[in-house]
Amino acid sequence: MTAGPPLAAPSIPGAPAAFHMLAKPTGAVCNLDCAYCFFLSKEMLYPGSRFRMADEMLETYVRQLVEAHARAPVVEVAWQGGEPTLMGLPFFRRAVELVDRYRRPDQGAVYTIQTNGTKLDAEWAAFFREHDVLVGISIDGPREIHDAFRVTKGGRGSFDQVMRGLGHLRDGDVAYNVLTTVHAANERRGREVYRFLRDDCGARFLQLIPIVERVSDAADPQAPRSSWRERPLYVQEGDGVTARSATADGYGRFLVDVFEDWVRRDVAEVYVQIFDATLANWVGELPSMCVHCETCGLALALEHTGDVYSCDHFVEPRHLLGNIAERHMLELVSSERQRAFGRAKVDTLPRYCRDCDVRFACHGGCPKDRFTTTPDGEPGLNYLCAGYKRFFGHVAEPMREMAQLLARGRAPAEIMRRYAAADARRGRNAPCTCASGRKWKSCHGAEPAL
Ligand code: SF4
Ligand code: SF4
Repeated sequence: MTAGPPLAAPSIPGAPAAFHMLAKPTGAVCNLDCAYCFFLSKEMLYPGSRFRMADEMLETYVRQLVEAHARAPVVEVAWQGGEPTLMGLPFFRRAVELVDRYRRPDQGAVYTIQTNGTKLDAEWAAFFREHDVLVGISIDGPREIHDAFRVTKGGRGSFDQVMRGLGHLRDGDVAYNVLTTVHAANERRGREVYRFLRDDCGARFLQLIPIVERVSDAADPQAPRSSWRERPLYVQEGDGVTARSATADGYGRFLVDVFEDWVRRDVAEVYVQIFDATLANWVGELPSMCVHCETCGLALALEHTGDVYSCDHFVEPRHLLGNIAERHMLELVSSERQRAFGRAKVDTLPRYCRDCDVRFACHGGCPKDRFTTTPDGEPGLNYLCAGYKRFFGHVAEPMREMAQLLARGRAPAEIMRRYAAADARRGRNAPCTCASGRKWKSCHGAEPAL
């Protein structure tokens, strides 16, 4: 993209005061080769590129991001990839310097980075600590689960490298959250994964993201099998899924399994994003997850070249909004095309969803996963629907209770006392409350004091 004079910040009626712009300074380039990664193949969008955001583009991006948040008290600067740490620390030091140059003196800056953790050391940790960078680190569970899919270019498990990186974050007193994907290798092990993240990783903020890897060739649901280099460009098409993907019911059971553990001892201690988002919907607040908001469109992706796409999950030619060297970021975010993208989330809901009891909590899930049909044959139902119904149905009662506690000015954590009292009365051979079909004593009642 050729350089020109900086674009003037536009004044756009109805423009959002704040939005999320996930910047990918290395594009899709990563030092790992996670089997389920939907993003690695996006390298194909930029043949011949060095996949490093140029300094001039970094300045354009930072300046426009700050200008676009002129009405916001805080500007969020979010990095992702690929693996953003491959840019090296000088890039991020320069980014912070630029944010400080352009932001208003009374405007705060919040930095976040999503990383596989393998490149982190004490120097990275010191930088994160100094600038209060919130680090998201990807860990799928104990070694054998994590290494099932999160592998190096040579196909070896990355567990040891990731745990070393996590150790640097913990030693350096860095704020971090753990992003865990739910898939075929861990969907039956929710409680075990949760306890590992809580106890062995010290995680107090968790995101549990289902892997739904679409394929068009239903005859070969195993594909793509190995390195991304053997795969075509991943786009949101096809009505089959790979064998690695979570099953709908498996995802629901996983969430219920975790919830039944969390609600007994960790409310207000451990923040699980989907539980928090569910409670937000129960009390009529905006949840922190776009997936369970009524509309979306305020979480966009910025490639290393300055190209802006409607969403991180739609980095594909038909969802390219433009380049920030040619059109100001705020213009792209506020464009009619992007607004239509966000509205489509609610406008395309099938009747089955519109009539659903838990629609207010689910909102039909993410449009990228809406490729199945409803029982009466209408297209556009979310692949995960059965899991969502299971989870939102299961938590309805405790969510109502926590919402009532909040309404009375009390702490939702009080719910744990009610659970403890009910558990004390429960027979050891009674069915477990998670509806697994197992006895209480050999399921969630097995280790009640943990
Ligand atoms: S398409 Fe899905 S992931 Fe993207 S902003 Fe909408 S709900 Fe969120
Ligand atoms: S649970 Fe299923 S039917 Fe209900 S809103 Fe969600 S996707 Fe639609």
